Amino acid sequence: APPADSVLHEALHATFGFNAFRGVQEQVVRRIMADRSTLAVMPTGAGKSLTYQLPAVLREGTCVVISPLIALMHDQLRSAEANGIRAAALTSADLDREQTIERFRAGALDLLYVAPERASQPHFRELLRRAPLTLFAIDEAHCVSEWGHDFRPDYRLLRPLFDEFPAVPRLALTATADAHTRADILAQLGIPEEGLIVAGFDRPNIRYRIQPRDQPVRQLTRLLGENPGPGIVYAQTRSQVERLAEALAGTGRPVLAYHAGLPPEVRAANQAAFVASEDMVMVATIAFGMGIDKPDVRFVAHAGLPKSIEAYYQETGRAGRDGDPSVAVMLWGADDFARARQRLGEVEPQRQAGERQRLDALASLVETAGCRRAILLRHFGEDPPQGCGNCDNCLEAPGVVDATETARKLLSAIYRTGQS
Ligand code: ADP
Ligand code: MG
Repeated sequence: APPADSVLHEALHATFGFNAFRGVQEQVVRRIMADRSTLAVMPTGAGKSLTYQLPAVLREGTCVVISPLIALMHDQLRSAEANGIRAAALTSADLDREQTIERFRAGALDLLYVAPERASQPHFRELLRRAPLTLFAIDEAHCVSEWGHDFRPDYRLLRPLFDEFPAVPRLALTATADAHTRADILAQLGIPEEGLIVAGFDRPNIRYRIQPRDQPVRQLTRLLGENPGPGIVYAQTRSQVERLAEALAGTGRPVLAYHAGLPPEVRAANQAAFVASEDMVMVATIAFGMGIDKPDVRFVAHAGLPKSIEAYYQETGRAGRDGDPSVAVMLWGADDFARARQRLGEVEPQRQAGERQRLDALASLVETAGCRRAILLRHFGEDPPQGCGNCDNCLEAPGVVDATETARKLLSAIYRTGQS
């Protein structure tokens, strides 16, 4: 029988200290408690982890969580353990693997984190046969789709594994999936269509501004001047990060850099300093941000074109998780589009259509003279409000600024040439 309301709410409070579910969380948890496989599409920060952690605590047996990155797994592990949840990870970085396997088989784990490469190996399958299972949770589930923005072939090996345990429900989670990707995730993971739950994507406290990049250092300096709180500036390459960090340090604000070329201890120290700070600017590649839980980020700037609308939404979504006013500024150049088009020619043929669609969607976001939020929300299948009142185009009276007109012309000239 499904658990009574009071049981779920008491467990929510006892385990996490929260007084209420947020958004669709309760709906997702109820489905899992009723053994119904689900795909939950919930924006970053919406609280996806809780939707598998709570059932894992309430039900007998272990929830096996598929997660693509060791760093992500360890973040999750730490916060689960801080809530008294019995959790472990099986990765090459975990030296207590024997002990973890023992605990798993003895039914002494609520959560077991594992990467898809390991999950699909025969000896892991053997292990699953001899352990009590209660749920498969698939984090970053868009990785299973070639239409998604971050395809990982190993995710394709999960379905055959899950199919061996037909009584165990599946919960796929992602922040970023357009309609096409959602349908693909459902099919690839064997989740019925009625199992799709989509949370609201609107982040009304984020003000979107998208403008041509002419003098990036000056443009960003102005942004820093207007926004004294903590912020992130995304640059595209390591050397761009270094250069921008140096230039912006000249404004007198505390500025740190973050990219994959820095030693791990420097990255960890910079990240910790940013999380603790009330005025720090982090100049970073997109390697920075996943798994960071800082509610008071006041701005996110892109010094160049992001990879896709999904990536843009996810990266800008790191601003204003506390609900206070925040800004997202994108500076783009025609050369960004030219490069993106060039890369399009280099991807494998079977992925070209998807990549082209992704780039087109990004171009419409950049070139629109209409509401930016409307384009974002429609992209995620949501009906937008009539004029959001909180993006550059909604705020600036038409005709006063013809930057968008310029943008459109530039793009037609450069990006659209040669497109059939
Ligand atoms: P996601 O994976 O969707 O990006 P997380 O699971 O990391 O989000 O949760 C984001 C933050 O929201 C975490 O700090 C978490 O503790 C908090 N949170 C989740 N659910 C609730 C809730 N019902 N009430 C209050 N805070 C919540
Ligand atoms: Mg998450």
